[in-house]
Amino acid sequence: NTQILLRARPVGEPTADDYSIVTTEVPTPGDGEVLLRTRYLSLDPYMRGRMSDAKSYAAPTEIGDVMPGATVAEVVESRDPSRAVGDVVLAYGGWQGYSVAPAKQTRPLDPDAAPISTALGVLGMPGFTAYAGLTQIGQPKPGETVVVAAATGPVGATVGQIAKILGCRAVGIAGGPEKVAHLDELGFDAALDHRAPDFKEQLKAAVPDGIDVYFENVGGHVWDAVLPLLNKFARVPVCGLVAHYNDTSAPEGPNRAPALMSNILTRSLLIRGFIQDEFAADHQRNFLTQAAGWIADGKLRYREDVTEGLENAPEAFNRMLRGQNFGKTVIKVS
Ligand code: NDP
Repeated sequence: NTQILLRARPVGEPTADDYSIVTTEVPTPGDGEVLLRTRYLSLDPYMRGRMSDAKSYAAPTEIGDVMPGATVAEVVESRDPSRAVGDVVLAYGGWQGYSVAPAKQTRPLDPDAAPISTALGVLGMPGFTAYAGLTQIGQPKPGETVVVAAATGPVGATVGQIAKILGCRAVGIAGGPEKVAHLDELGFDAALDHRAPDFKEQLKAAVPDGIDVYFENVGGHVWDAVLPLLNKFARVPVCGLVAHYNDTSAPEGPNRAPALMSNILTRSLLIRGFIQDEFAADHQRNFLTQAAGWIADGKLRYREDVTEGLENAPEAFNRMLRGQNFGKTVIKVS
């Protein structure tokens, strides 16, 4: 069994030395458990947080543990009547070729309903994140302007397309001309490159009526450009701050917190962070039904960035954090 372990806590961008790749015995399932062979491994920005021991919403991965991650896997041995050999399931197997899990902690997938890898992206955690954050916190109304960055990724692309479905004006921000062209194809009303020297001016021109909902995925210079354009009563679901995950120190310059608080006060802004699973019990089922319908109708499209081979996961992970992925990052393991 090939496993990728966390060897050291990275400082800044993770390096090859922060991981070890080992070969171990394939594990044996106990009563009520299944042995799973990983087919696809999901790579997600939150994993950078797990590699750090800074306080967060979830406990860090311990040094020497298998790197965590959602997987789509095939049951190769079952010690539970609810799962049969050959079943394809959603699991949390981590960065390894085989894993053992309690059958109850796996969710069966129907390979005829959708490509199985979509359970890690548009029909999985990132898609649900977009749906829950946008509808529950963003609360967009028809005709309002919704802005999202990392807009070709699985969260951002879903946010923009659901905003369109709900009758909003959707403005997408992404890195580079190829991604911007893709946003046009997805039906965003405006698409901007945050690396353009005049990005701030472009954003201002793209939102003539201001911004009602800013779905925050990135932070950094995108947030700086968005803040002055937020309308009175704008909503900001704070979903992620990927521009900062490899930061090693606070930014230089004056403390900008008082100016931010003043903006929140004088424009009655709602800025609310969330972790998607807070909404799962109430909204997951509805999401799955609606998203499957939107995909079938061609209203919700998705793109995947597939890398072959588990051993390439560390490099693919860094490419994603740098913005060199194009779509949902998955590793095809077997
Ligand atoms: P993506 O596949 O979109 O990958 C991250 C993207 O971030 C990159 O492709 C890049 O896109 C963009 N990016 C990186 N650095 C910068 C920067 N300095 N400035 C602007 N953009 C940058 O990831 P996901 O769709 O999986 O996740 C999007 C966000 O949602 C992340 O912040 C993630 O942590 C968060 N998230 C939060 C959840 C929650 O429950 N709160 C759950 C799931 C995800 P580009 O090249 O276009 O700039």
